[in-house]
Amino acid sequence: MTMGSGATKSQGNNPQDSLVAIEGNPESPYCSSENWQSEMNNSAGTDFNSIVQTYEQPEEDQDQYNAEDDEEQEEIERLCRSTAETSQNFHSSESNNTEPSGLTMTFENFLHEDGTLYTCIMQDNTRLYLDEIKGFVPFPEKWYQQGKFIDILQEIPTYSTSNENSPNQDVSPFTDDERVGGLWVPGKGMVTTYIFEERTNVCKYFDTDCGAWLILPLQWEMNLDFIKKRVEQVQQSLPSLSDHREVTAALRQCNYDADEVISIFLTIFGHSLLIPFKSQRDYKEANGYRHLIERDMIIDSLQQKLKQSNTTVENLHEKTRELLEENCQQSEMIQQLNRKISELEVNHKEALDRITALQKICGTYNSASITPGSYSEPKRLLELHKITRELSISHRQLRSMLHLKISEISQVINQIVDLVLKLKNTEAASAQEIEELRSLYKKEALEKKLLYNKLQEICGNIKVFCRCRQDSEAQTILEFPSDDEVTVNQNGNRKRFSFDKVYPPNATQEQVFEGTQPIIISCADGYNICIVAYGQTGSGKTYTMMGNEDNPGVNIRSIRELLRICQERKNIRYTIKVSMLEIYNEAIQDLLSKQPHAQLEIRTQGRTDVIPGLTEIEVKTENDIKNVMQLGSKNRTVATTKMNSESSRSHLILTLWVTGVDSYSGATYHGTLTLCDLAGSERISQTEATGQRLVEAAAINKSLTALGQVLTALKNNALHIPFRNSKLTHLLQPAFSRDAKACIFINVNTNIKNLGETLRTLQFGSSVRQVSLGKVTQHHQAQELK
Ligand code: ADP
Repeated sequence: MTMGSGATKSQGNNPQDSLVAIEGNPESPYCSSENWQSEMNNSAGTDFNSIVQTYEQPEEDQDQYNAEDDEEQEEIERLCRSTAETSQNFHSSESNNTEPSGLTMTFENFLHEDGTLYTCIMQDNTRLYLDEIKGFVPFPEKWYQQGKFIDILQEIPTYSTSNENSPNQDVSPFTDDERVGGLWVPGKGMVTTYIFEERTNVCKYFDTDCGAWLILPLQWEMNLDFIKKRVEQVQQSLPSLSDHREVTAALRQCNYDADEVISIFLTIFGHSLLIPFKSQRDYKEANGYRHLIERDMIIDSLQQKLKQSNTTVENLHEKTRELLEENCQQSEMIQQLNRKISELEVNHKEALDRITALQKICGTYNSASITPGSYSEPKRLLELHKITRELSISHRQLRSMLHLKISEISQVINQIVDLVLKLKNTEAASAQEIEELRSLYKKEALEKKLLYNKLQEICGNIKVFCRCRQDSEAQTILEFPSDDEVTVNQNGNRKRFSFDKVYPPNATQEQVFEGTQPIIISCADGYNICIVAYGQTGSGKTYTMMGNEDNPGVNIRSIRELLRICQERKNIRYTIKVSMLEIYNEAIQDLLSKQPHAQLEIRTQGRTDVIPGLTEIEVKTENDIKNVMQLGSKNRTVATTKMNSESSRSHLILTLWVTGVDSYSGATYHGTLTLCDLAGSERISQTEATGQRLVEAAAINKSLTALGQVLTALKNNALHIPFRNSKLTHLLQPAFSRDAKACIFINVNTNIKNLGETLRTLQFGSSVRQVSLGKVTQHHQAQELK
């Protein structure tokens, strides 16, 4: 922390006297007779530290100083002179240059209540302070009530961030005081920290074992009524502070003063805390979420700015149009006036001709002898002369009027030209500003997207939910000890499986959808999203995915949510296309094609895989999508009947291809939402294992085994992920790669008859749960930001 010369803004609490001491030094090239030498203890970074350090530079080094240093040098010399003049009594006279060794002068630091820090000294029992312009002047009496003397070293912790991005480095170059530190706070950047000694209340309990009062652990403390009441008070005011531990810890630090906690949180995170979370979140998630809300606010203000700029540009365009119209009118007027001038000139010429002709006639009359009978001619001549004079006067008037008008018009034209030029300049500046705003907006939007993605990553890129279906006629083997655990009870032998969430038989379709809802937003942000239902036939996969007309499943609800998000984002133009296919016996069949039995193949084009010939239908509303799904289901039924099979023996994949173009930034997003109802995972019994059933079973077994292999390879971070081992995994590759997100529903039946299959399915699900997809790397983020 470097302070300004003479006066510095600072803050402090405990009044103490200053401790900076300065002694005389006859060697100093700049102070010669003044003889200053510093004895800075701890170098707190005050100006005087830097002043004295600069004096002690060897003369040859002074050449290296740049212009900035020179200015500083002058300031230092000036301060030094004024300090020396006012402290003559402390030193021997300039003439004899006597060594004033041992003479120590104590400087004091006075912190005025307006935040200014002054340097003071005592001279002849009079206190002086250093004024920037006048040097040392008497300390005003009234200031004693308006501030206090402080010890800078103890009051102001020094802190320097040499590298903002590495908050964990040793941050203080001035002191090794371990109480000084730094912390990276989202939305605030690097902040300086300092551990102050303060007295607060402490919650303790009496431990009978050791016979002493011990501090209550945070977890215990949270349950005290005294604390609960205050936590409630804080949470009522700031509903988004859902983590009780966070609030209890803050209360501890604020002497259990709930109002102080509220005001501190509001100061740090702003009004984003007033927005409640939809569900319980821990401190880490909450912090990310608050950061997101801050970003939203920035984006909103940027959008506002962009709108204002657009309006200004439109106004400018309007003005330019008006001026151009005016310009046209003026040009027309000039042309008319020019025409009139030429007409008048022609008239003028004719009049002149007539005058000359008449003058000729006059001359003839004058020179000719007057003969009787010619007296009537002079009278006519006089009349003509009069007319000619009038004509010539009116001609002159017209001429001067014309000149006046022309000069006025040319003035107006000049003004218009100036205005048009100015307008062009303003337009160029506005265009540049819009461009800057656009790129800023683009960056912010991308950052917001990456942050949301990171939040999802923290929550896990693959979520595994277990949904259980009640089979009322049979003995139930499933128990639900908590909302993320299911137990298989086999004659008292219990096996427990954990999932991200377990939906018992009475869970509604709405509750089941809630788990997948957060990832739908990522699809609109340009990520690949996949929702898969796995389980044996009759376990409720189709019911979970499709549901029925009155109670739709995850499919329709996800699509509805996606359409809602797309419509909400006014500045992004989305196009959505739908494709629907089934994989039966390792053959891909397009369910939307006019020839539904045509088989399709996956081809690699560059770095992506495509299915040439796959029908994609553009949709705009939920009804459009329902119609497409109905068409697909009809074609599927026809196909399965023809093959004498069942729909449960094939995998159904419905994909929504979402493309968004941001009209402000021009950025394009490509995301997909893949909804997959897998074929039944049950093992075929030996009695059924013949003919077509055997082929079907082999194909299903192959693809589900391949799915398990892919997920195991992902879990082990294997270099090679065997996506191409089956058509199913090949098609789902984008949904399980890099920063894609997936939800897998493990469907099981409570019937004891299905015990074997249920155990196998739950085993599959709990092993998938440990998979995390590739995190978004910094390199990747940087590439996206470009
Ligand atoms: P799968 O697709 O796994 O073969 P289905 O979804 O077709 O199984 O379910 C078989 C039957 O059970 C259907 O009649 C379905 O309506 C019903 N069903 C499945 N799950 C539930 C549930 N959670 N609540 C009510 N009925 C269900």
